[in-house]
Amino acid sequence: MRREVVKRVRELRRSFASIKPMVHDPRAPAFVETAQAIVKGKASERQLVALRTPHCTHGKCTMCGFKSQGVEKTSFEDLKAQFDGIKLIETGRVSLCSESSLFHLKVPFSFLEFAFRKLAGTRVQEIDLETCAADVVRNIGNIERLNALLRKSQQLFVGMGLESQDDFVRSVLIGKKLLKKLFEKAIGLLASAGVGAFAYVILKSPGLEEKEAVEECVRTIEYFFSVARRTGIKHARATLKPLFIPRGTIVEKLFEEGLVAPPKLWAVIEVLKRIHQLGNVFAPLTDEGLAEGRIAENCAKCTGKVKEAIRTFNATQDIKPLQKLSCECKEEWKNED
Ligand code: SF4
Ligand SMILES: [Zn+2]
Repeated sequence: MRREVVKRVRELRRSFASIKPMVHDPRAPAFVETAQAIVKGKASERQLVALRTPHCTHGKCTMCGFKSQGVEKTSFEDLKAQFDGIKLIETGRVSLCSESSLFHLKVPFSFLEFAFRKLAGTRVQEIDLETCAADVVRNIGNIERLNALLRKSQQLFVGMGLESQDDFVRSVLIGKKLLKKLFEKAIGLLASAGVGAFAYVILKSPGLEEKEAVEECVRTIEYFFSVARRTGIKHARATLKPLFIPRGTIVEKLFEEGLVAPPKLWAVIEVLKRIHQLGNVFAPLTDEGLAEGRIAENCAKCTGKVKEAIRTFNATQDIKPLQKLSCECKEEWKNED
């Protein structure tokens, strides 16, 4: 199975290289979503703000729908209109992300300064800024400048897609262009700047069976927190992303061909049970409004309650309620090969 997935991923990557972005309103954000989260040790909310920006120049990751979601170009005025159109949450955490790194050369830095000044005038306690390891290294001075715009009590976290600690999974099955050495350097720089870090970790990369995927996800979160400890970074968070199937992606083709499927929610629970003691783990179950079958689920009887329990875990980090969950489908999942 893995060999077949690798072969198809390579073929599909070639044919997807020519995909053109769809036409989108450059003054409307791509996606805004609010979810429960723990912020500064208390149950609160996280508002995800996905800004519409030019897509990333790499554009080769199997599960990335950003290429078709981006715009050709953007301006300070477009981005300001997007941001001004959002009713920001009163407190908690605002996570800024985009179709790419927010340090994309086509995203004016003046917009980030504007957004940070605006956030400094709110009671929001944590601000996430999504980028990639290479851009952290290139822009550490700009990250420090943005951090200086926030109030002292506000904590900045800079996020990067790590996805998997396994080089083959990360570079071939996912298609990420990231060396672990660079990731570790980026975390070290953030630590020295007094900025927090978060890493996206995928659960069930294409080419991994469910149980292998759980093991790999656990190893990746362990790796992330060990790098965090080694660098002495004060604030670290792992964001767990169960695979979902966005439209217009390589993963969608593999899904249609029966070569990949999202994990069960039991796999999410299993990972959380095994790593919750290592540090703050956030599993937002973001599904970008996708239909059933394309997102992590269990059976019809327990999906709702299990999702609710994971959402509560995000706000409490208390593993006990997750340990008590059961359903007939849990036994089936456990007994699967
Ligand atoms: S996942 Fe990130 S690095 Fe990969 S193609 Fe999408 S935006 Fe680019
Ligand atoms: Zn069930």
